[in-house]
Amino acid sequence: MNNIQIGLLMLLLTALGLVGYNVWLRETTPPAMTYSAFLADLDKGEIKKIHLRGGEITGENIKKRSFTTFSPDVPGLMPLLTERAVDITAESADPGLGSFFQSMIPVILILGAWLIFNKTQSTKGSGSGFGKGKSTHLLPIGVSKITFNDVAGIEEAQGELTEIVDSLKHPEKFSKLGGHIPKGILLQGPPGTGKTLLAKAIAGEASVPFFSIGGSDFVEMFVGVGASRVRELFTEAKKNAPCIIFIDEIDAIGGKRSGGNASGSNDEREQTLNALLVEMDGFSSDETVILVAATNRPDMLDPALLRPGRFDRQVTISLPDAKGRLKILEVHAKKVVLSPGINLAVIAQSIPGFSGAEIANLVNEAALTAARHGKQSVTLPDFEEAKDKIVMGLARKSVVISEKDRRLTAYHEAGHAIIATVLTETDPVHKITIIPRGQALGLTQQLPLDDRYTYSYEYIINRIKILMGGRVAEELIFGRLTTGASNDILTATEIATRLICEWGMNPTIGPVAHMQEQGGFLGGGSSAKPYSEQTAQAIDREIKKTLEECYDAARQLLSEHNKLLHKLAEALLINETIDAEEMSIVYHCYLNQKKIEESITSTREGTETHTSEGR
Ligand code: ADP
Ligand code: MG
Ligand code: ZN
Repeated sequence: MNNIQIGLLMLLLTALGLVGYNVWLRETTPPAMTYSAFLADLDKGEIKKIHLRGGEITGENIKKRSFTTFSPDVPGLMPLLTERAVDITAESADPGLGSFFQSMIPVILILGAWLIFNKTQSTKGSGSGFGKGKSTHLLPIGVSKITFNDVAGIEEAQGELTEIVDSLKHPEKFSKLGGHIPKGILLQGPPGTGKTLLAKAIAGEASVPFFSIGGSDFVEMFVGVGASRVRELFTEAKKNAPCIIFIDEIDAIGGKRSGGNASGSNDEREQTLNALLVEMDGFSSDETVILVAATNRPDMLDPALLRPGRFDRQVTISLPDAKGRLKILEVHAKKVVLSPGINLAVIAQSIPGFSGAEIANLVNEAALTAARHGKQSVTLPDFEEAKDKIVMGLARKSVVISEKDRRLTAYHEAGHAIIATVLTETDPVHKITIIPRGQALGLTQQLPLDDRYTYSYEYIINRIKILMGGRVAEELIFGRLTTGASNDILTATEIATRLICEWGMNPTIGPVAHMQEQGGFLGGGSSAKPYSEQTAQAIDREIKKTLEECYDAARQLLSEHNKLLHKLAEALLINETIDAEEMSIVYHCYLNQKKIEESITSTREGTETHTSEGR
């Protein structure tokens, strides 16, 4: 809301107030009559009482009907009134206190409206006054009191930001070495994971001024105002350097530009975005102004924002795993009275998929529940009750994953990871998680050891086996097929097709490139080599055969390492995320145990042979 809008609204309110005042006057003012009609009534003895104020007469006739009129000659009227024995009251012509208030009503209305607006403006953190200087609403919120201690369970992201805090605290240390301080940091992650909180914590840790504005604050405005506000914001910030500018929900202005489509509102947004880009480029490195922005939708952002020199530091915050949830619980539990002996780890374990905001909400709800039951402290059953309440609310939004799906996902991801681990010609497993992300319920991430430019046949085949591992694990453990693997199947099919048609690696088809006629997976393969229907059938057969062989190989491997599959899936269900190191521990424990078991069976077999020989 800007000054113009406030002004317009006040005008509207004033007009409304005036109309209301007039209506009120008319309602409370009895009908007027002419002075001669009044004299006639008086003569007939129909006037009962009157009230005089100067020449103004209000009165009541014998039928108890009120009226008003005006007398040009009050002294001349008096004898007539006394003659008819009319009840007379009178006051001086100066407006009394009552009418003074009446005339003040519109003023009071305007004042009230102004106060209310001022209040809402300042609670939004930009105390803009009516008609005051235009930059007053950009005063920094002051120094944030939030520190990294208030943020928990996202150490990775936090670690990346300590350097930024350092650079704000000791700018000279960085500039001396010629290093350049990152100008823009983009915090991205699902809602409620603590992005806003983290931005405030950066400011709090560095104890520098903090300018905060929501992305949508720019867009609500009239044409051209968004862009000029961006410029104001940066001018003001530079004056206060070192400082932090925080733009929350930047996707509201930073969304992809449409290009061509010039509808009014888009135009405005694009101008604002352009102004932002210009300002970001205009930073010089000795101005220690750091722009922090947050978004739930990094995919929506205009690529121009992500170019080097702008938001060159991107920090992803994901939903917390069990360990992270425990830490967040601990932070928020400090604010309530917990009953002694309550095990927060158990609670953290029981709320998979909860974000930091939901955990904060849980603690608050639990405290309210305890209070409702008249308890002195918050107990486990209070948490249970609060959890059920929140989960039910979330279930409607279909965010919560059922226990069945969690198990399925855990085995599915473990299947991928085990095949990637037991085969040699593969990229090592980097991270396995059953924390949902976008459409995917889980993820197994592999990182190549070094940049690969060429891929061996074995590597490609193994890649398909790893992809099949998810579906195979589901089939082995639950004995049924689900759609959870549809994406894996699609990718596997694509790879198998390229193996045969593009890379010429299939012995039956031979080293021949069989590009598809149009587009297809190669994207506009114009150098299409037409091939016969026979070849097409052969290709289809080979693709199917390759995929089936990989599927069987995956089943073979997972059956062989069945115990590892259970172990890893259980570990995933408890921890939700498993990194490379933990994966390697689980794997080596398993290998050791297997070795011991094998040596036991072999010695037993050895003794058996021995005894039979002795017989
Ligand atoms: P976002 O901006 O990512 O949507 P917020 O920062 O607004 O999330 O988080 C809302 C609230 O949830 C915070 O004020 C805080 O109380 C709680 N919260 C979220 N994440 C965390 C966290 N990692 N540690 C502690 N509290 C958190
Ligand atoms: Mg936020
Ligand atoms: Zn999968």
